[in-house]
Amino acid sequence: NPFPGCICEKSSKLIDRARVPSVIVSSPCKFIQSPMDFGPLKLLQSTTSASLDFGRLFFNSPSAVLRPQSPREISQLLNFLQTSSLSKVTVAARGAGHSIHGQAQALNGIVVEMDSLPSSIKIHKKGDGESGFSYADVSGGTLWAELLMESLKEGLAPRSWTDYLYLTIGGTLSNAGISGQTFKYGPQISNVLQLDVITGKGELVTCSPTQSSELFYAVLGGLGQFGIITSARILLQDAPQRVRWVRAFYDEFQKFIQDQELLISMADMVDYVEGFMVLNEQSLHSSSTAFPSQLGFIQQLQSGSSDVYYCIEFAVHYSSEKESNVDHVLEEISKKMNFMPNFIYSVQVSYLDFLNRVRAEEMSLRRRGLWDVSHPWLNMFVPRSGIIQFRDLLLDNVSPSTFEGPILIYPILKDKWNSNTSAVLPESSPAGENVLYIVGMLQSANPNTCSSKCLRGLLQKNRRVVEGATHPQIGAKQYLPHYTQEAQWRDHFGSRWDRFLVWKSEFDPLSILAPGQAIFNRKY
Ligand code: FAD
Repeated sequence: NPFPGCICEKSSKLIDRARVPSVIVSSPCKFIQSPMDFGPLKLLQSTTSASLDFGRLFFNSPSAVLRPQSPREISQLLNFLQTSSLSKVTVAARGAGHSIHGQAQALNGIVVEMDSLPSSIKIHKKGDGESGFSYADVSGGTLWAELLMESLKEGLAPRSWTDYLYLTIGGTLSNAGISGQTFKYGPQISNVLQLDVITGKGELVTCSPTQSSELFYAVLGGLGQFGIITSARILLQDAPQRVRWVRAFYDEFQKFIQDQELLISMADMVDYVEGFMVLNEQSLHSSSTAFPSQLGFIQQLQSGSSDVYYCIEFAVHYSSEKESNVDHVLEEISKKMNFMPNFIYSVQVSYLDFLNRVRAEEMSLRRRGLWDVSHPWLNMFVPRSGIIQFRDLLLDNVSPSTFEGPILIYPILKDKWNSNTSAVLPESSPAGENVLYIVGMLQSANPNTCSSKCLRGLLQKNRRVVEGATHPQIGAKQYLPHYTQEAQWRDHFGSRWDRFLVWKSEFDPLSILAPGQAIFNRKY
């Protein structure tokens, strides 16, 4: 029987609460009663992984899990729910489940595990003299790491990345997908040519900027609200072979951001720009274990002449034959920068190792039992005009000596984002201001040192930062937003809320999709 009555109770007991100081565990009840309800679709009772995500803050158990073998099965399920008596059932696509706040969960609903769709990556390499672009057609549950490996075989790669590659194509395109290349190529949602989507009504639609364009733009950054992405056509470019990866240190925030902005203005030479706060020695490791010795700077840190330091990371791509050229380019760039004298370090790595740098950090944390812990993360887009105030607000709400995890800060350019998509950026920047900052407070709650009470305290501090930062004085917006009330969502979307509502009523009128985002209630 694929629908035993109390599977949900059983599965929630499997969560090891001793190691996970859960904040919210919703107790399940059953809407799905009969295996006949879904005709030929086989739903599974094993719902444990579907009620877990990277955040380990929410554990909402679905009633059942669908592991589709084809997009048609997802369409059948959604079609069925348009008319069935299962009037309360919701559906969440689950990519890699790397959300923080239960966004890919569906309490009492059905989770569609996208990794079960047959993985398909088809590379189209543009021929000499052919117009258009190289691209890859990739199924929605594919990991970016898989796309990278496959496209490198053809000497190609996507242009825009996330720091961590074990996220799915559909999962990041439902948000934005940002990293140190965003200043140059825009987010991942600016690098998509076409999508295959199953709307909340169960319709299978191929969409692009010229075909069903409303759906195309709604889905990009649409938090899973309008359709399930079963395939995406991702723009590719020639892949570089090698990367010179540089870190430079600062004891003044002003100089740090000035240099970051200088670097993003040199897009002809610079290929990647990020940066992070150095609160303690651990900050250097948690940003990436892959970067070797920065011993000189560590001694400086231990001597304690400043509370907080900052580090810019930038990278320059090159091909193996142009090794000597890259030294010259780096010299050109660094002589314009204003870092602490001598505190600059660089390494040479392959393009693959560079893009996959966070994997080494994951492995190290896994070995120490610190990967599968709670992650009270907070990400914000901050207008340039508010970044200094935001930095002060942040420092008022973290304890430098105990903070575990990186605090990323880096600039991106607004004009690389397509305002037709659902993605939300700050609206209140002074006219003409094109620079925005992304700030990611990526902290871990080590269960050995942070109890449930401590975790609640961290979440409360995050809420305080969100309240202060979204005040018009700073005018920031959350990235990967988490709100629970409609009024908060309305504020978040601002002038885009009405358009979001229109799209919802057009593409998912019964509000079946992505209930874990807590934006809409299921309509009967
Ligand atoms: P899930 O968590 O499975 O799903 C996220 C949302 O998308 C849910 O609402 C879900 O229902 C919906 N969804 C999933 N698949 C589909 C689909 N095929 N069609 C429609 N909707 C779908 N983000 C960045 O931008 N840059 C980073 O550098 C970055 N680094 C990260 C590093 C780590 C270690 C982690 C844990 C997260 C990071 N993220 C980053 C955040 C990440 O992009 C988002 O959490 C993203 O949603 C994760 O993708 P996923 O496949 O795990 O999605």
